[in-house]
Amino acid sequence: MKKYKHIVVPKDGKRITIKGKKLSIPNNPIIPVIEGDGIGRDIMKAARRVVDAAVEKAFKGRKRIAWMDVYAGEKANELYREWLPDETIDAIKSHYVALKGPLTTPIGGGFRSLNVSLRQIMNLYACVRPVHWYKGVGSPVVHPERLNVVIFRENTEDVYAGIEWKKGSKDVKKVITWLNKNMKTNIRTDSGIGIKPISVTGTKQLVRKAIQYAIDRKLPSVTLVHKGNIMKYTEGAFRDWGYKLATTEFRRKIVTEDELWSKYKGKMPKGKILIKDRIADSIFQQVLTRPDEYSILATPNLNGDYLSDACAAQVGGLGMAPGANIGDYIGLFEATHGTAPKYADKDVINPGSVILSAVMMLEYMGWDKAAVMIEKAIQKTIDKKTVTYDLHRQMKGAKKIGTSAFATEIIKNMR
Ligand code: NAP
Repeated sequence: MKKYKHIVVPKDGKRITIKGKKLSIPNNPIIPVIEGDGIGRDIMKAARRVVDAAVEKAFKGRKRIAWMDVYAGEKANELYREWLPDETIDAIKSHYVALKGPLTTPIGGGFRSLNVSLRQIMNLYACVRPVHWYKGVGSPVVHPERLNVVIFRENTEDVYAGIEWKKGSKDVKKVITWLNKNMKTNIRTDSGIGIKPISVTGTKQLVRKAIQYAIDRKLPSVTLVHKGNIMKYTEGAFRDWGYKLATTEFRRKIVTEDELWSKYKGKMPKGKILIKDRIADSIFQQVLTRPDEYSILATPNLNGDYLSDACAAQVGGLGMAPGANIGDYIGLFEATHGTAPKYADKDVINPGSVILSAVMMLEYMGWDKAAVMIEKAIQKTIDKKTVTYDLHRQMKGAKKIGTSAFATEIIKNMR
């Protein structure tokens, strides 16, 4: 058993391993958990109770999660004098599946977002965000039930690669002078510069995951979202490489939108997945005007960031929006909202986002029975109109309850 400086490995749990290119999950897996800063303390307590209750009930005590606290953010800074200690990365890498609360991004020069760092260090290249509506939750649109999408956002490159030079710096002067001289560009000398790399590698691993997800879950389509009309060699290339991957690696399972019309007269052949693409500005309209035509949306990093929050707003807000960062094997499941410091330790915030992220985690582990049980219990709790403040302000005749009481209601409503 590994020895860590501050992490205590639970004695009653076993490590998840890889067997035959698949995760092998014991009945008592050790799951690292980053509690998170601010409201992380409220929501994670609630989430662990809900997950433990569902696993116990679904598997009649035969399965159990052995949670292992690992540290990042403010707590890590107190313990290690570091915001993201190496042993946290090491623990997640060697246990494969982890749950995470929100983390403060320290303000000031020199700090990168801890969330972005975690994704890049472990090559968690797909940010997966399912967005669908829970009946009864208030929404700013007339038909929130029509939106049921899973966003696959590339997670490691694009403008998030962090290659930037500040206006007026020595380096930016070098870059601008070199470009204007050697590449015949005409960049204003008082500019800041950022670089937007999008690679074949990053695109293919993301689109492959998105199509495989559609196949595994028998979903009808994958849409490549890009701004290729303007950025031809980055966003446009994302589209081209996405189609190339689909028509080479998944040839027998997919039909492109062109082929749908040229070969199949617009009638989708049974059992195939439609691969289409949309320009980014158009998809923002389409998810509002024709949401039921979309199922999986595969996007470069920045488009995906915008689109995820816009879609979450359509179904009632951040409090109910789950997310996961997934690589070849590692899955880091996390609340999609931040630390909301004004609500920290007040026991009022909605734990829905991290609970639903844990639902994704249970599905990833193949513990679907417990996952379904939690989702149904959440719906039942909303049906009974016992909800946290954020849902309460959008629902007529509801009773407002706190974070821990909401978790207790979910547990009561499990069957
Ligand atoms: P935020 O923490 O997400 O909070 C913004 C607002 O969103 C809250 O005031 C609240 O709105 C609503 N909200 C957030 N979580 C909610 C929940 N669980 N239930 C109900 N409503 C919820 O964003 P922020 O204030 O911009 O960021 C605060 C810190 O979090 C920053 O340090 C930022 O860097 C960090 N952050 C971390 C992550 C992450 O770890 N993945 C993500 C984003 C931001 P109302 O006040 O209207 O109720």
